[in-house]
Parts: sequence; structure tokens; C-alpha cells
Amino acid sequence: MTSLRTWLVGALLVVVLMAVAGSTATTMNEVSNRLEEDLEGEGRRALSSLRAELQQTGAALDNELDQLLDPRGPAARADAAGGAAARYLYAAGRLEAGRVDLLKVLESDSGTILMSGHWPATLGVVDAGVTRYRTDAGTSAIVVDEPVSRGAAASLQRWGTGRWGSTPVVAVVGRFLDEDALERMRARLGVDLLALCRKGAPCLIAGGEELTAAIGASMSTPEAAARLSRHPLTVGQGSSPAELIVGLDRSPIEAVKAAIRRRALGVGSASVLLALAVGFFLAGGVVRPVEALARAAGDLAGGDLDARAETGSGRIGELEGLVDAFNSMADDIQSSQEKLVQAERVAAWREIARGLAHELRNPLTPIQAAMDVMRKARRLDRPDFDDILEEQAGAVIEEVIRLKKLSDSFAQFARLPDPEPEELDLAELVDRTVALYASGDEEVTIDRRYATALPAVSVDRAQIQTVVTNLVKNALEAMNHQGRLLLVIRTDDLEGRAGIELRVEDSGHGIPEDVRTKLFTPYFTTKGSRGTGLGLAMAHRIVLEHQGTIEAAESELGGAAFVIRLPVRRPSGAAPPGP
Ligand code: ADP
Ligand code: MG
Repeated sequence: MTSLRTWLVGALLVVVLMAVAGSTATTMNEVSNRLEEDLEGEGRRALSSLRAELQQTGAALDNELDQLLDPRGPAARADAAGGAAARYLYAAGRLEAGRVDLLKVLESDSGTILMSGHWPATLGVVDAGVTRYRTDAGTSAIVVDEPVSRGAAASLQRWGTGRWGSTPVVAVVGRFLDEDALERMRARLGVDLLALCRKGAPCLIAGGEELTAAIGASMSTPEAAARLSRHPLTVGQGSSPAELIVGLDRSPIEAVKAAIRRRALGVGSASVLLALAVGFFLAGGVVRPVEALARAAGDLAGGDLDARAETGSGRIGELEGLVDAFNSMADDIQSSQEKLVQAERVAAWREIARGLAHELRNPLTPIQAAMDVMRKARRLDRPDFDDILEEQAGAVIEEVIRLKKLSDSFAQFARLPDPEPEELDLAELVDRTVALYASGDEEVTIDRRYATALPAVSVDRAQIQTVVTNLVKNALEAMNHQGRLLLVIRTDDLEGRAGIELRVEDSGHGIPEDVRTKLFTPYFTTKGSRGTGLGLAMAHRIVLEHQGTIEAAESELGGAAFVIRLPVRRPSGAAPPGP
């Protein structure tokens, strides 16, 4: 029955957990999809802003380059005006204007620096990048490390060739893409991270400290892939193409997911508790009446006719109805059982009255005859009257003794009180009783076959003793106090409930077919004046009042076998004795 409760609560738990898990999964999916889409859109927008910014930068660089290479332009004029100072001043002025970060003009053939805005000291020096400008001739943009005062800085450069007077020149302009520039760009774009990556070198990364620390130096680690939504853009061409990577932090999505998971866990635990509470409440309503029914039905089947299922514990109308129906059925069984016992008892007493009348008549006839003989002898004045008187009086006394015996045994039978059951060991009771009656018979061997670990029986000691005494006496009489007596005790089913069986078997003359049907009838005896015919009738009545059974069978020893079965449980509802 516990399993019914467990099942109910378990089923409710499964339903609740499935509902919570299902809705959590759906919400999680929806929210995370929406957030991913948003992030993706944001990335695309940032990328196009970046592209636009790079285009603008490219246009500014081209414009600067055109001015530098214009043979009649200000740069060429400054060159023609002569002197490194004029060239430097022009270049420095352009840098000051802020549209470019880097500006230089080289002599095409030698690579000698003719003009530079940064570093007057480099004038006349051969530029380290000259080969690159030659190799990548025709390309319009490149990302390179440009030597600067504090080392080298990544820069986006454009260059072109032209002539200053008769000198073929290469003009180079550029904007720095160093960490500061990246950081400014990142801030303008409003993204979490901006990285510049080139082959064979660690990426330059601008972004929050925590974020950059989390992803490490490389943008291609699994950590970076997991933490960032990445949107790359190729910049520059030629022998060293580079990538600008816009990165958006995914951790807010993960944080939202974690929050949903936490919420779900909270809701889940609360629901589980609620489900448990509701489950136990409901289970109580269903299970308690069912348990009560099962218990009462078991007790009823076990012989307890007083057993009833308790009412009022169920909250479910149908179950309450079932309990009520069961109880009224039990009432019916009990009252009809009582009626049956009553009817049996009336029938039994009728039988007894008939037997008693018969038994009373038997001695009365010889008494009447004896009196007649004596009166006749007196009237005839017979000389042997004294002898006749003696003889006939003896006969009368004998019959009177028999009447007395009859009355005694009837009194005993009629006075049979209500059984007062106590828990006792049947084997011990049988042994004691047998010892009283059979120990004197030296020519009788007694065999015992008792099962081990026998349950206790709840019976009236004195009454069961009477039963055993009567059976043993009959057995000894049937074998004329010579032969074998077998006692068997074992557990046995008694009409579907636990019972204990006692067999008393003998090697006597056995029971003829015509006797068998009358065995338990009061005053039936085949022993003439030596018997009362009440022994088995009494045994029968006692066993019935203990809710047991008694029957006669044939014994393997050749004689009769009397088999008694008693319930192990306390028999209740046993009817009161006597009419
Ligand atoms: P009683 O012993 O006074 O005759 P019982 O009621 O004890 O009365 O027995 C009734 C009859 O049943 C006996 O007269 C006898 O014929 C028969 N009977 C009882 N027990 C046995 C037995 N063990 N073997 C053969 N017959 C028996
Ligand atoms: Mg007897």
C-alpha cells in the first residue's frame, strides 16, 4: 500500500519536473536565440561602421597622396623651394592637420628618404620598407609596422609613385593602427573588443581588461571563440594582409542563461516541494481509505467479524462510499453469521432433547419391569421374595446409577461456558493431556509428529483439553488399550486463513460406514451403557465455538483418525453459548 502512495507522489513529481524542465528549456532556447540574433545584428552593424570608417580613412589617405604627388602641388613646391627644412615643415604641417599619422617621400631608385614628418633624423637614410613598396607596387593599402620613435607601430599605409621635378619618388601616407588607435576605434564603434591580427604575429587587442585577460593573446583560442561573437574584416592587401576583428562579449547571454537556470532551479525546487505536499495530501485521501479497506478485509477474512474499515479519513466521495459499502457488507455477514449460529444451536438442542428423551426411557423400562416383578411376588407371597427383591432392587439401582450418570454428563454438556481464549502452545497442551490419560497404558505406544516452529494458538485451555481428552479416551477404548496412538500437529490452511491442525490417530477397530454419519450426534454411542455418546458431540461443539473444524477419517495405523483444525488468529465474533 506504501507503493500506491509512492506511485501517486512519484507520478505527480514526474509531471511537475517535466513541466518545469520543459518550460525552462523552451524559455532558455527562445531567450538565447533572441540574444544571439541581437548580438549578430550588432556585430554586422559594427562591421559596416568599421568598413565605412576604413573607407573614409582610405579616401583621406588618397587625397593626401594626390597632394604629395602632384608635380605642381604644395609638396613638390616645397621640394623645389629647396632644403630639407622646407620639406620637413611641410610634412610636419600635414601631420599637424591630423588627417594622416604618417607621411614620407622616398627617392624611387635608392629608397633614400626625401621627406618625413616624424623624424628629421631619417632624412637621407634609406627606408627599410623600400623593397616592400617596390614589390607591392600597384597595391593601394597595406598594414605594416612602421618604425617610430618608440619602436614600431602597426599602420595602414597607402603609397603611390610620381615625379618631383626629374626625380622619381614614392610617396607613403598612413594612419596608425596601434593599440591607442584601436582603442579609440573600438570606443567609436561601441563594441567590446577590436583586434588587429596578422599572420605570424600576436594580435593587437583593444578591449576591457577582464575580457582581454579572459581570451588571451590569440583570437583563435577556444576561450576566445566561446567568449566572443567575432566579425572579421580583411584590411590591406599585398604580402601582408591583416584582419580587423570586431568582438562582442557573449558573457551577458551566458549570464542571462545562468539566471534562467537559477530561476528554474528555484521554481523547480519550490514546485517539487509543492508537488510533494499536494501528492501526500492527495495520496492520504486516496490511500488511507484503501488501506483501511484492505486491513478490514484482511481481518474479516481472518475471522474477525468485528473488523470494520474506519470512515471519515477519505476526502474522495467514491472511496468513502466504498468504505461504507464494505462496512455494511461486514455488518450483514456478522448478523447472518450470528443467525446461523443461533439456528445451529436450536437444531443442536432439539437433537439433544431427542437423544436425552431416548436415553431416559431406556432405564425406565427395566425399572418399571422390576417394580412389577416385585409387586407380583409380594401379592403371591412368594417364599423367595427376599431373593427376588434383592435381585430386582439391584437392577433398579443399576438403572438409577445410569440415570444419574446421564444427568451428570448432560449437566456438564449444558454448562459448557463461553470460551476464554489465551495464547498457548498446542503441542504442550496435547502432551500434558495425553500424559494424564495414556501413561497408565503400558501396552500403548505413542508416536508424535510435531512440526517445528509452530505458531501459538489462541484457545480456551480447559475446553481444548476436554476435546483432546475425549479423542484420546475414544482412541484407547477403540484399541482396547493395546496398540499405537499417533499424534500429529502441523500448520495448515483453514478455509484460506492460517490454521493449525491436530490429528489423533489410533490402531483400533476403526469406524464403520453407518456409524460415521452419527459420530457427532449427542447420545450416539456404540458402547451401550458404558458410553454416554456425548464425548464427540462436546468436542464438536467446542471446536465449532473456536471457529474450527473437526472430522473423522481413516488412519494409516488401521483405525480411526480425528482431525481438528483451529485458526491461529484469535477468533472473535464467536457466538455466546447456550440457547
Ligand atoms: P462414547 O465414547 O460415549 O460412545 P463418543 O461421542 O465419544 O461417545 O463416541 C461416539 C461413538 O463414536 C463411539 O461410541 C464409537 O462408536 C465411535 N468412536 C469414537 N471414537 C472412535 C475411535 N477412535 N475409533 C472407532 N470408533 C470411535
Ligand atoms: Mg467417548
